[in-house]
Amino acid sequence: MGTVYLTGAGPGDIDLLTVKALRIIRQADVIIYDRLANPDILAEAKDGCAFIYVGKEDSHHTLPQEEINEMIYQNALKYDIVVRLKGGDPLVFGRGGEEGIYLHERNIKFEFIPGVTSAIAVPEYAGIPVTHRGITVSFRVVTGHESKDKNRSQIPWENYKTDDTIIFLMGLHNLKQITQKLIEIGKPRGYPVAVISRGTRADEKTVIGTLEDIYEKAKDLPTPALIVVGEVVNLHEQLTWFET
Ligand code: SAH
Repeated sequence: MGTVYLTGAGPGDIDLLTVKALRIIRQADVIIYDRLANPDILAEAKDGCAFIYVGKEDSHHTLPQEEINEMIYQNALKYDIVVRLKGGDPLVFGRGGEEGIYLHERNIKFEFIPGVTSAIAVPEYAGIPVTHRGITVSFRVVTGHESKDKNRSQIPWENYKTDDTIIFLMGLHNLKQITQKLIEIGKPRGYPVAVISRGTRADEKTVIGTLEDIYEKAKDLPTPALIVVGEVVNLHEQLTWFET
């Protein structure tokens, strides 16, 4: 029986892969990877390494999670070193915990290898610090993927009245509802918002707006994209570096 490495691939720029992840990728017998993991990383694998794509992005799963869990398990019965490669960090909306539990229940050894999460690195590449002295003392990372049932919001909107920076992952398709909700709980219509598309990649694009107009400005941006809400967005003007 092998060991499964639940590994973060970082947000896109291949140089944001950790040294630890790169070491294990070079030793892997099989790599099971997602759509969000930069496929150039696979070129680092040794000859003969097997590749399995279980591409999923947002809620559009190519394979249901249960089948991915089972596939990882079956590969651990077959190979010594199984790398499960995920975009960003495996435990930030990455479902790495579910995969770990599935393996634990079947007595398969596993390790987590943290990755650079898009939640922090993508705003950073756009010149937006998630905290900044004198502006905000904390940030939240939230799923923007709401339940289809409008009466059953997963997001405790009432908690978001504070000045915390809010980073919404998986939220582009809900951008309109998200901005409406934040206005409803009392944030000013002119409150700053950024949408960052394909962050840390060569085609990264940042659109800056307000709760009122960001939807019209950013709705057609390509995914993956994340949304940053907060006064720190204004720092983009002085701190932008990667896109210029
Ligand atoms: N585990 C990942 C997040 C998985 S959820 C991490 O730690 O980064 C997937 C969401 O992450 C996407 O819907 C998008 O909101 C965000 N995301 C991931 N990579 C991104 C990128 N390069 N640019 C912008 N958003 C990204």
